[in-house]
Amino acid sequence: MEEKEKNAIRLIREEMSEKDFELYMYSLQKLADKNLDNNMSFMTDLYNIRAFQVKASEEMLQNPDLKFAMIILDFANFSMINEFCGREKGDELLKYTADTLRELTAEHVVLSHLRADIFAVFTPFNDKNELIAITKKIDAKIGEFKIPYRILPAFGICIADSPTMSVSIMRDYATMALDSIKGKFYAKYAFFDEEMRDRMLLNKMIENDIVSALEEEQLVLYIQPKVNMRTGAVEGGEALVRWHHPERGIVPPGNFIPVLEKNGLIIDVDICIWRQVFRFLGNRIKEGKKIVPISINISRQHVFDNSFKDRLINLSKEYNVSPDLVPLELTESGFLENHDMMYERMRFLKDRGFKISMDDFGSGYSNMSMLKNETMDEIKIDKGFVDDIATPKGRSILKHVIEMLQEIGLNVIVEGVEEPEQRDFLLKCGCTKAQGFYYYKPMPTSDFEALLDEWNPVS
Ligand code: C2E
Ligand code: CA
Ligand code: CA
Repeated sequence: MEEKEKNAIRLIREEMSEKDFELYMYSLQKLADKNLDNNMSFMTDLYNIRAFQVKASEEMLQNPDLKFAMIILDFANFSMINEFCGREKGDELLKYTADTLRELTAEHVVLSHLRADIFAVFTPFNDKNELIAITKKIDAKIGEFKIPYRILPAFGICIADSPTMSVSIMRDYATMALDSIKGKFYAKYAFFDEEMRDRMLLNKMIENDIVSALEEEQLVLYIQPKVNMRTGAVEGGEALVRWHHPERGIVPPGNFIPVLEKNGLIIDVDICIWRQVFRFLGNRIKEGKKIVPISINISRQHVFDNSFKDRLINLSKEYNVSPDLVPLELTESGFLENHDMMYERMRFLKDRGFKISMDDFGSGYSNMSMLKNETMDEIKIDKGFVDDIATPKGRSILKHVIEMLQEIGLNVIVEGVEEPEQRDFLLKCGCTKAQGFYYYKPMPTSDFEALLDEWNPVS
């Protein structure tokens, strides 16, 4: 309560008799209840999110001896239901779900239609199994809904760690648990647990620390050599970011890039690495030293950022580095997702001399028609294919994939070569370029420079 409100109540209290004051408080409460009653979901007549939060907090505070949990229910495929069975059927399902939840009505239980196709049950419990039983009951009942389509409800559960735990945090945690199983048809429910809490804290730390990391040059360029397997010569490199965290030491990109891709900060990280690559090449050119192309990773987030093409062109001008010395690696999934915009922007950069490389080929849902697109110069075959060399089927697939890609005129490089047998097999297939720990791991630029000077001595 605000200080002003507290003062107002104190004044009223001083002016009124005990009885009047009680009456006054009672009418205030009634008014609040009435307001809450206006906060019902129009479609399902369950509490909306605001009323739910208030009611659930009240239950928790008024019953400190009870254990409470929040279960959030979401449908993995609700938009499909709307699309294939019609909006009316979708609405009917929401009402049916609300009726199903109403069957759980009991003392201290608060039900809500939070928004769209998301519902919540706030309930006291003794044993975790009771909560699982609730999800099963709801799931079974929803399974009876007449629809020519399989409905896939999923449940995220958060147990309150104290009666003062904020209901909106419980909602965040339950949602996080739910997100962890979204799209996994075999998992119906998930509890928010320690691991999720740690991951969330780590993600928060990353979000907080990345800004100073950018300012204090903690993001360091490493380069992994690309090698000609026939001669062993270093013919190129890939720029890979390493975070030299002041307390955590070197943080690998797999730990922070997915977080930054979600909040968009990956754009700044990429630009910081790109600049280091252009500066590195520019300096070597100025010093008359031998150079090789260094490819950079382009996060799919850039596709939405209109300025990213100009940034690359400007960097190339600023450091006097020809664009063909900095190939652009884009992941296969990035190409698939934003098809038209991606091609348009790649075409633009290609016309200005950049080379385009498709990263992680074969790791996701490859669409063979992507290969027909003329913007592509190079395909990087994913490590997964190389790992499969151990089996006859794996060998056959890899051999034919390489053959096919080369036949349509694409340069092929294979990632993740770790063993001499893999190298031998790839060479037999006619593939000469590789990147992998068998040759070199990603290294600081000073080591890469030494390698270049060794392999490509100034003639
Ligand atoms: P990627 O682009 O596919 O990069 C290759 C990854 O495979 C690198 O991991 C590299 O160290 C690893 N690798 C190479 N050869 C081998 C091998 O023989 N065995 C094994 N086990 N691994 C090998 P890294 O550096 O941890 O990077 C992981 C991913 O993070 C990269 O995958 C890329 O998607 C992303 N990434 C790294 N740096 C950047 C960056 O500056 N910007 C963006 N947007 N993404 C980056
Ligand atoms: Ca890459
Ligand atoms: Ca890759």
